Amino acid sequence: MTGRWQRDLDRGLPSSGLVAVGRGPEHRVAALTLATMLVLGALMGGVNLFVDGVLRDGAWRWVYAATMGLLVVMAAPLVVRQRAGRWHMFGLVLLGDLIYVVVVLCIDDPQLYATPLMLLFPSLVAAWFLGPWELGINFVATAAACLVGLWPSHSDPVGLVVQVGVSAGMLNFMSLAVFVLRRRVQRLLVATENLTRLDPLTGLFNRRFLVEQAPRVWRQARRDGSRVAALVLDLDHFKRLNDAHGHAAGDAVLQQVAGALSAAVRPSDILARTGGEELVVLGLVSDPDEAAHLAERLRTAVSGSRTDDGHAVTASIGVALTRPSDAESPTDELWRLVDRADAAMYEAKQQGRDRIVALWVPRARSPLTDGVPLPAALDA
Ligand code: GH3
Ligand code: MG
Ligand code: MG
Repeated sequence: MTGRWQRDLDRGLPSSGLVAVGRGPEHRVAALTLATMLVLGALMGGVNLFVDGVLRDGAWRWVYAATMGLLVVMAAPLVVRQRAGRWHMFGLVLLGDLIYVVVVLCIDDPQLYATPLMLLFPSLVAAWFLGPWELGINFVATAAACLVGLWPSHSDPVGLVVQVGVSAGMLNFMSLAVFVLRRRVQRLLVATENLTRLDPLTGLFNRRFLVEQAPRVWRQARRDGSRVAALVLDLDHFKRLNDAHGHAAGDAVLQQVAGALSAAVRPSDILARTGGEELVVLGLVSDPDEAAHLAERLRTAVSGSRTDDGHAVTASIGVALTRPSDAESPTDELWRLVDRADAAMYEAKQQGRDRIVALWVPRARSPLTDGVPLPAALDA
């Protein structure tokens, strides 16, 4: 995870592949909606039990009643768990197809009371929740269910094939259209979500992303027993550069610096632009020396970069380290750490700019007064 956008960001988001009804409020709504539809289907189908001449006599009536009961039973786990995994959803879809077949067998006149339109429900669920392979399997299941449903009403094989083709074709086409639409919407959502984490001028991550990542970084630091390092970089005399060469030249320098820093940070570091000409690098280090070397690499990356027009800047860098504690939230700890690095950065400005000042104060509120400077190597 470096500064600039990369495909890693997609990992935490719903991918365009198989999406299950997992956790989260919208997933809860989906699971409860499905459960409601199953119960409503059972209630509506149950009416047939009380209407004369709809169901075949004998055991079929009981099979039908049990099938309607099964619909309610299928709703129960969705209500209780308020989510459904990938295979759970696939199972529900195939069971939906099977229930249509059972209903057809139980009903006296399927053409009148069990239209293939009933397969719309599993087809839509498949289109919205399943991946391409599962959708393909459901296409075949839908065609087979249509065949069973239309068989009793057609003595002519050609007519039967045509009717199955029309019914299954329409259902599957509609299902495919919803599936394609869903994938497009998901891609758009992923792209939009990525944009909200990026700084538009430099392509670096923004402050929001930095905050989002704090819990993950702190978790990893606890797991590895490492320290979290925050490096605050502020470009030196940037206003002068803007005033002398114009805002566009300043923007070009910012972009150049962003590129140089992206190449200099380690793959696991997070490089974010948190303000106008202020950047933060957040990463894990095993000791102060590692942070010192990283800071020095960043300092030389900035001072060594130059725009096509020949403009260059330097940066003052403040470094602070912390060991994650269980007492405070990672976000609070992040800002406390960044505040300390910021104070160190101002100290670097005071000392003449284009240098690094590092303070490592495990639990101090006032780093500059309570702080213990790091080894001389850090005071470039
Ligand atoms: P110091 O060395 O003390 O940090 O001096 P400085 O001039 O960098 O600091 P100051 O805070 O006075 O000025 C920061 C300047 O950064 C002011 C503002 O015009 C410029 N700046 C902030 N954001 C942008 C931006 O997106 N593009 C450009 N071109 N300039 C920006
Ligand atoms: Mg500044
Ligand atoms: Mg500045």
